[in-house]
Amino acid sequence: MRPARVIGAGLSGLVAAWHLADRGFAVEVIEQAPHPGGLIQSQQTEHGLVETGANAFVWDNTVAAWFQRLDLTPEFPQASSKRRYIFRNGRPWRWPLTVAESLGLAARLSAAFVTRATSAGEQETMEAWGRRVIGEGATRWLLEPAMQGVYASPPGVLSARAIFDGRRRGLRKLAAPRGGMGQFTTRLYERLCDRGVRVQFNSAGTVDAGVPTVVSTPAPAAAHLVAPHAPELAAAIARVRLASLATVTMFFEPHPDDIHGFGILFPSGTGINALGVLLNADIFAGRSTRRSETWIVGDRDQGLTAFDDDRLVQMLAADRRRVTGRDATPLSVHLTRRPAAIPVYDAAIGQVAPSLASLPPWLALAGNYLGRLGVAALLEQGAAAANRVRESAL
Ligand SMILES: Cc1cc2nc3c(=O)[nH]c(=O)nc-3n(C[C@H](O)[C@H](O)[C@H](O)COP(=O)(O)OP(=O)(O)OC[C@H]3O[C@@H](n4cnc5c(N)ncnc54)[C@H](O)[C@@H]3O)c2cc1C
Repeated sequence: MRPARVIGAGLSGLVAAWHLADRGFAVEVIEQAPHPGGLIQSQQTEHGLVETGANAFVWDNTVAAWFQRLDLTPEFPQASSKRRYIFRNGRPWRWPLTVAESLGLAARLSAAFVTRATSAGEQETMEAWGRRVIGEGATRWLLEPAMQGVYASPPGVLSARAIFDGRRRGLRKLAAPRGGMGQFTTRLYERLCDRGVRVQFNSAGTVDAGVPTVVSTPAPAAAHLVAPHAPELAAAIARVRLASLATVTMFFEPHPDDIHGFGILFPSGTGINALGVLLNADIFAGRSTRRSETWIVGDRDQGLTAFDDDRLVQMLAADRRRVTGRDATPLSVHLTRRPAAIPVYDAAIGQVAPSLASLPPWLALAGNYLGRLGVAALLEQGAAAANRVRESAL
């Protein structure tokens, strides 16, 4: 059997390993951590499920095929989670724009479609695009929270080109395994072991010239690993910045005044420090019998994610008080820090894809810094990376 190597046993690496094994390679996976899954880890706690990374896939044919392959039952969001809120003027709104702003938005959008002025300029940030195409109010109260919710960065730093190029068309439904996202990576890991794939934990990978290899680490490690073989590409990857996130999942006794829905996004300047809160038990049934909230903190206001645990939790308790108007003691608190959570989709991201052609044919990359954010995209990337190195070995 021909040998192949995968560096990184997160979702992308496990998927690449699966496809390489499928194609008859003797696959070794090298993982720095003591466990598989990377950012995706689901913890069963006494009050319910806690996710530490992505909490759902965007459902499509590729995702559906993976669920079937791994004998996993998909859980789809409950109807009540269609309600999404944005915080403005001290309270959550399903539509945060005033009547004048809404009319202005409608007029601007019609004009922009007629004149085809919706495409993004080469150097345009999402904020500049928003001001130009949808106007000040919609940028401030719709675009900014939406961007923070998905990319964890303010629109002033996001590249409109990078966002639009990596976007999937249309709104699709979400899905997650009944036992959380960690069930997907754990099942995949177990199936790989059954198929004879060797996974070496607590080891840093190396790239040996000529050995078919998929590098599926976060951007900084990938830059380091490919540098001897594709220096220009490595330099482009090294310029990708990573956003730091902290998530705090708290369980509460339900209260009659609780808001129900997918979650609430908090634009900057509203007095709330968190970027948003997910209402987990409203999204997926069976996640908790209590109220389960995941508060997400980013570095929108410099350095919040570096607060010590007590200060971070106290800050979120104050946020929650401002949002709900009442004090409540959580039944339990679960804090996760991800100093290198997701890439900042700024102009540097756009410089990676053009340099990919310089990779030697036996080397491929998979990861969320390659132009498309989203775990469903990683399933496709893992397959594409495996295919590339397979062809080099033919
Ligand atoms: C709080 C949070 C919420 C998120 N929410 C969403 C969401 O709602 N939707 C969504 O689509 N995405 C979301 N994401 C992002 C998503 O979880 C990630 O994009 C995805 O899990 C990345 O998978 P990966 O396998 O590419 O990378 P990782 O999960 O980072 O895995 C890379 C692996 O490589 C290993 N590694 C690193 N360096 C080396 C080395 N030198 N040698 C060997 N191994 C190495 C690491 O230990 C790690 O296990 C979220 C992330 C966070 C943190």
